[in-house]
Amino acid sequence: MKRTRQASLRNLNSFSVEAFADQLLELDSADDLQEFTSTHRFDPACDLVLGGGSNILFAADTHGTVILNRVTGKRIIADSNDEVLVEAWAGENWHKLVLWSLEQGLSGLENLALIPGLAGAAPMQNIGAYGVELSDVFDSLEALDLNGGGMREFKHGDCHFGYRDSRFKSHDAGRFLIIRIRLRLRRHFVPKLAYQGVREELNTMGIDEPGPAEVSEAVIRIRRRKLPDPAVTGNAGSFFKNPVVSRSLAEQLQKDLPGLPLYSQENDQVKLSAAWLIEHCGWKGRSMGRAAVSAQHALVLINKGDATGSEILALAEAVQASVKTNFGVELEPEPLIIGA
Ligand SMILES: Cc1cc2nc3c(=O)[nH]c(=O)nc-3n(C[C@H](O)[C@H](O)[C@H](O)COP(=O)(O)OP(=O)(O)OC[C@H]3O[C@@H](n4cnc5c(N)ncnc54)[C@H](O)[C@@H]3O)c2cc1C
Repeated sequence: MKRTRQASLRNLNSFSVEAFADQLLELDSADDLQEFTSTHRFDPACDLVLGGGSNILFAADTHGTVILNRVTGKRIIADSNDEVLVEAWAGENWHKLVLWSLEQGLSGLENLALIPGLAGAAPMQNIGAYGVELSDVFDSLEALDLNGGGMREFKHGDCHFGYRDSRFKSHDAGRFLIIRIRLRLRRHFVPKLAYQGVREELNTMGIDEPGPAEVSEAVIRIRRRKLPDPAVTGNAGSFFKNPVVSRSLAEQLQKDLPGLPLYSQENDQVKLSAAWLIEHCGWKGRSMGRAAVSAQHALVLINKGDATGSEILALAEAVQASVKTNFGVELEPEPLIIGA
């Protein structure tokens, strides 16, 4: 188990903002996990589990221990004719896991290609993109209860998955260290092309009847075009969730804003496009100090270079206030914010 005191987190978050942790613990093997379990007394008030750092904003230092679970491994653990159960340890890179699953002839993850981060974080906010969510393929996970409760298994129904949400992000936030996840993938491919852009991209590629690798390639092309690359420009992907409001409020808003796109949900709820609302407040491409709203995508806040986490947070709050004033809609941040 590697231990660093007064550790810089700049290279461990995709915003590339500077922040320090009193202590950094890196777990690289099953032995490290064992040692961690028997020696570390977790303090939920100030300790933090960190994956790839692509969904977190450090607006302050962490006065506790940051735990990096880097234990890797992936394998097929059950294989019937069509359904295949895959297990991945938390430290596996998510995108590489997607590519590996395609190499095994498995489908289910192709729409989730190129999402940054590690497999252990995928259930946290039920990662989703291009019409698919992790919960569509999720089977179960094992996690260590950091409150001293030992190892626990969570089946699909135990995780309380929602839109960019799960129990691990809401009422059990910070309590569990996810160790490994299991996914139910398929050999028989049923493409999910409800998201219009994917079909259009496949058409541009000249493909009528795509296989999973081609759908993943289409998704990768769209993502490379639409989203700033965190290796070049610090960002955490979408900074805000798309707000879900009552149908009556959505229809009221649409009367005043005829172009406002509405996406029907269950229970007479409607999802609005946060990007549309932000753009129509004039924020797209606008800077505030060394932070900015991306000119490529209004949902993405970027570090223009050497911004602090608090500068990015100040920009996020300004965007929220503006959308609230103009449209009466609350925007909820998607990343975990340290020092909010
Ligand atoms: C360019 C870009 C595009 C993105 N696109 C998408 C997208 O399309 N869809 C989407 O859903 N997200 C997207 N994201 C957000 C992000 O990639 C995902 O949320 C990803 O799952 C975060 O993984 P991570 O390992 O970086 O987690 P981190 O940012 O390190 O952590 C996120 C949260 O998970 C917790 N956590 C991490 N690992 C563990 C673990 N092993 N056990 C317990 N808790 C843990 C952390 O404490 C924190 O609360 C994007 C981000 C970027 C930068």
